[in-house]
Amino acid sequence: MSGFLDRLPAVRGKLLANEQLAPFTWFRVGGPADVLFLPKDEDDLGDFLAKLDPIIPVTVLGAASNVIVRDGGVAGVVVRLGPAFGKVSSNGLRVTAGAAALDGRVSIAAANAGIAGMEFFSGVPGTIGGALRMNAGCYGRETKDVLVEARALKRNGERVTLKNADFHFSYRHTEADEELIFVEALFEGEKDDPVKIVERIEALKSRRETSQPIRDKTGGSTFANPDPPGTPNQRSSWKLVDEAGMRGARRGGAQVSELHCNFLLNTGDATAADIEGLGEDVRAAVLAKSGVELRWEIKRIGRPAVDATVEGYLAKDA
Ligand SMILES: Cc1cc2nc3c(=O)[nH]c(=O)nc-3n(C[C@H](O)[C@H](O)[C@H](O)COP(=O)(O)OP(=O)(O)OC[C@H]3O[C@@H](n4cnc5c(N)ncnc54)[C@H](O)[C@@H]3O)c2cc1C
Repeated sequence: MSGFLDRLPAVRGKLLANEQLAPFTWFRVGGPADVLFLPKDEDDLGDFLAKLDPIIPVTVLGAASNVIVRDGGVAGVVVRLGPAFGKVSSNGLRVTAGAAALDGRVSIAAANAGIAGMEFFSGVPGTIGGALRMNAGCYGRETKDVLVEARALKRNGERVTLKNADFHFSYRHTEADEELIFVEALFEGEKDDPVKIVERIEALKSRRETSQPIRDKTGGSTFANPDPPGTPNQRSSWKLVDEAGMRGARRGGAQVSELHCNFLLNTGDATAADIEGLGEDVRAAVLAKSGVELRWEIKRIGRPAVDATVEGYLAKDA
């Protein structure tokens, strides 16, 4: 892979060939990135993208709390944004946050500045970049409710600003171009007493502690609820999974959480294939039981392990 590295534009940050991604992910599974790029700052990222051969795929990861990286790793360049992209500041009722800032930090910064409305971020263990891509939210509020605009880089390095409406947000989804790398977001909330805001954050955190396996190797909600919030008689994915008898189901080292059955777990030695395969078992069981085709909320990226491919199978016989 070092030949590939030699063909990439020079950077001020780091380019690491064949770098394992599993340690960065919540599930702790998955193969290496062909090349992992840790840009020094926004200019470094922009210059790199502008000079990079357009044929080379680029994937961006945040806290990897919503992805399964497959066992064969990720082709091309994987970008992880570092501290230069993690700044958070407030002005009046507005908060500016770098895309690498953890959502929890944003909720606390807003609370300290007496800005209400971003408490929900304390329950989402990802970064602001991931929140923009996923329209992350919980307990009745979503990223779209507080976002004013976001800055991003296109695949060719060009800088763009997207207004809230440009995202065409829907439940855990945005129509924003898949190739955009978000670098910063501007949020707006309402005025409130910091003490009251912090109390709400604490209440939200303790509610989550008892209802979700947040200390396990997991990827959060596996499947989006089939009906958008506010739909009369909205069906929850966890209920459909439970009704299909899949609570606690296993495949290899992967298990459906007993505590919250819309969460999949790596119980210790799971492969990405175990986790994704178990997810497909769950989808099949739900379809058979209730006729609902669950949509993956977790993003699955990369290639299967070599021995799970036709090439690998043929190589064994050679
Ligand atoms: C225990 C647990 C609880 C969770 N609870 C919730 C919850 O209550 N509500 C909720 O909405 N989610 C929840 N999640 C899921 C997850 O935390 C969110 O989806 C989060 O927004 C993902 O952010 P991330 O930085 O981890 O993104 P990643 O998982 O790294 O990536 C997710 C997607 O975002 C893209 N992405 C990441 N950064 C950028 C960027 N800078 N620019 C462009 N695209 C980017 C990636 O390419 C990928 O497609 C939970 C996860 C866990 C593990």
